[in-house]
Amino acid sequence: MDNLFGIEKISVGDCQELTIQSINAYAYQHDHWVIAWSGGKDSTATMTLIIYLILSGQIRQPKSLTVMYADTRMELTPLAIGAENMLKQIKALNLPWLRTQVVMSDMDHRFFVYMLGRGVPPPNNMTLRWCTQQIKVTPMQKAIEAEFDTIGEKVLTFTGVRMGESAIRDGRLSMACTKNGAECGQGWYMNTLDNKITATIAPIIHWRVCNVWDWLQVFAPQKRYGGWDTSMLIQAYGGEKVKEVNARTGCNGCPLVDEDTALDAIMEKFPKDWGYLQPLKELRPLYREMRKFEYRLRKHGETKMDGTPTKNPYRVGPLTMEARKYFTNAIIHIQAKVNRLATAFNRPQIDILNDEELSRIEWHWENNIWPQKWEGTEPLATDPFNQIYNDGSMEVKLFEM
Ligand code: SF4
Repeated sequence: MDNLFGIEKISVGDCQELTIQSINAYAYQHDHWVIAWSGGKDSTATMTLIIYLILSGQIRQPKSLTVMYADTRMELTPLAIGAENMLKQIKALNLPWLRTQVVMSDMDHRFFVYMLGRGVPPPNNMTLRWCTQQIKVTPMQKAIEAEFDTIGEKVLTFTGVRMGESAIRDGRLSMACTKNGAECGQGWYMNTLDNKITATIAPIIHWRVCNVWDWLQVFAPQKRYGGWDTSMLIQAYGGEKVKEVNARTGCNGCPLVDEDTALDAIMEKFPKDWGYLQPLKELRPLYREMRKFEYRLRKHGETKMDGTPTKNPYRVGPLTMEARKYFTNAIIHIQAKVNRLATAFNRPQIDILNDEELSRIEWHWENNIWPQKWEGTEPLATDPFNQIYNDGSMEVKLFEM
């Protein structure tokens, strides 16, 4: 493997040395540290390494270190289980300065409640990328803000941002979570956390994907490096040959990528362990279906206060109430199918939509809740409509899908 500049070989040891140097140079301006941990490979490497470096005396212990796990409720099952296991390990250390916290978005902003309750269509790469901000970034911002309020001083947040391999080649930092196997959310943390309440540091920014796997697969599980249980994480990324795969994980059925690479890989490589998750493959087509116009409302010539047309006067918007009910049932069925198989094969159950979330979704239906600027009286997006132009002229036409 090459170094940061693509010239010399660099080992995990060398990488660690640079990490220690960067922490010593920047981190001690702050007494209280936070690790924004998503459960994916980069932030897990960061989290386990920082704790190891402190416990082994290679970096000084801060007054407090809080490991904040961003639980989206949508994570790939082995990743979610792996994170749970590691949280238990941290708690078992029973160190007064080391705390854990599970960070989750508030009920109304959770993935399914927002979509199936409020009626906002699934996120996409083009015009509607609401998920990362809402289920990962905002909850983390709020949690760090609360930490700042409790402590009364600026904290330091560690992220797992790395420069992707191609970004290293062309010398630019890769923040996009859909590229280079980068972890969804990490770049956003770097860019959007309020620097009045927290400074950010990316201590493994110079690590390559092979260094990350060397750490997670070879070093971290050894007792002297912390004895971290990274087995689930390694499985989630495809098992032993994981180093060859710059895989991207994230939410089950993530609508922003073309394939469920991680889900496919675990089902193919570990069919006995994860084959029962097969029904989760139905999520992505379901999200695609939800975006169809037949399930959504459309503005018919929306105008501004002065009567002129808005930028997009015929925009297609939220899911109808019937569609929300239909798709909620479909999700319940998918979850039930997985859990029936889980029982049959003695595997862990999944919990992507729980009773509390379901009753909150129903509350939205009962109270006729619509996204901002929608009332539910708008016509179906497939209804015929008349096109009104800026000069006030009208073209009468039948709109057909
Ligand atoms: S993994 Fe996909 S669905 Fe989940 S937050 Fe990231 S982009 Fe959104």
